[in-house]
Amino acid sequence: MKILLFGKNGQVGWELQRSLAPLGDLISLDRHSSEGLSGDLSNLDMLRATIRQVRPDIIVNAAAYTAVDKAESETELAQLVNGSASRVMAEEAASRGAWLIHYSTDYVFNGQGTKAWQETDAVAPVNHYGASKSAGEQAIIASGCKYLLFRTSWVYGARGNNFAKTMLRLGKERETLNVIADQVGAPTGADLIADVTALAIQKAMICPELSGVYHLAASGEVSWHGYASYVIDFARSQGESLMVTTVNPIETSDYPTPARRPLNSRLNTQKLRDNFSLRLPDWQSGVTRMLREVLNK
Ligand code: NDP
Repeated sequence: MKILLFGKNGQVGWELQRSLAPLGDLISLDRHSSEGLSGDLSNLDMLRATIRQVRPDIIVNAAAYTAVDKAESETELAQLVNGSASRVMAEEAASRGAWLIHYSTDYVFNGQGTKAWQETDAVAPVNHYGASKSAGEQAIIASGCKYLLFRTSWVYGARGNNFAKTMLRLGKERETLNVIADQVGAPTGADLIADVTALAIQKAMICPELSGVYHLAASGEVSWHGYASYVIDFARSQGESLMVTTVNPIETSDYPTPARRPLNSRLNTQKLRDNFSLRLPDWQSGVTRMLREVLNK
């Protein structure tokens, strides 16, 4: 089985390099890849040519334009990478009978209410990033290819920057941290996403009727403020020397950003758990593991 992975050096892509390796012949690309292959999603002709050259059985797309605030001004680039490139992958997958594995976001929803979003709920993005991801979803669904489309939320990886690392750094520099308390979701590890992806691929290969949209997030829910408090408390319990004494809850309206953020990022994961017989651990277990790695504890 030949697997073509795009975005190998992103948070999820990095973990997919590990989790997909045992499944088959894995060809991993980033935007700079060479040897006649291009993983640059902003060049649609090269992207199409690369897929035709590799002739994969499975395309896994972990690449995306993920700069939520910048997408408000770089709208066309976000649409190209998140919308048009996904369409090209889906068309190529459809024409060769391959699977497309793709990731999307709770930002396709409008963030209203407190109920966890289901796969069947209507999308209504409130920012350009969400709109570009929604365009990618629609192109995949319309293409007729077999696909697993995982919507996830609040992704972190031990590698690179993430919210928890930022809180640890600021906690060493400041006495007070102001953190948004009215956005609620579930911090989800890139490692969990990659492991679930590999398990789901294995089952989908023998049950093609599992093709569809799935919500994939760690269990439980928390606000950014609760998440920050958890990180600070854990670091302190491990003997980290921190200056911070107060983690202050603030509202989204107190912290203006170029892109509007949905308040309700809760995802209902029942369909994924039922169809693939999986359990999704609570967000604290993954965050604790990442913190132990980061703090070397
Ligand atoms: P990252 O930002 O960590 O990784 C995205 C990768 O895409 C980077 O390696 C980036 O490369 C690459 N990329 C960007 N533009 C291009 C391009 N034109 N051509 C090729 N590669 C490109 O994202 P995550 O791993 O966190 O996200 C994985 C998926 O999950 C995405 O689909 C994202 O939309 C979705 N998601 C992410 C969430 C999050 O909180 N991060 C939340 C919900 C969903 P480079 O580093 O060179 O720019």
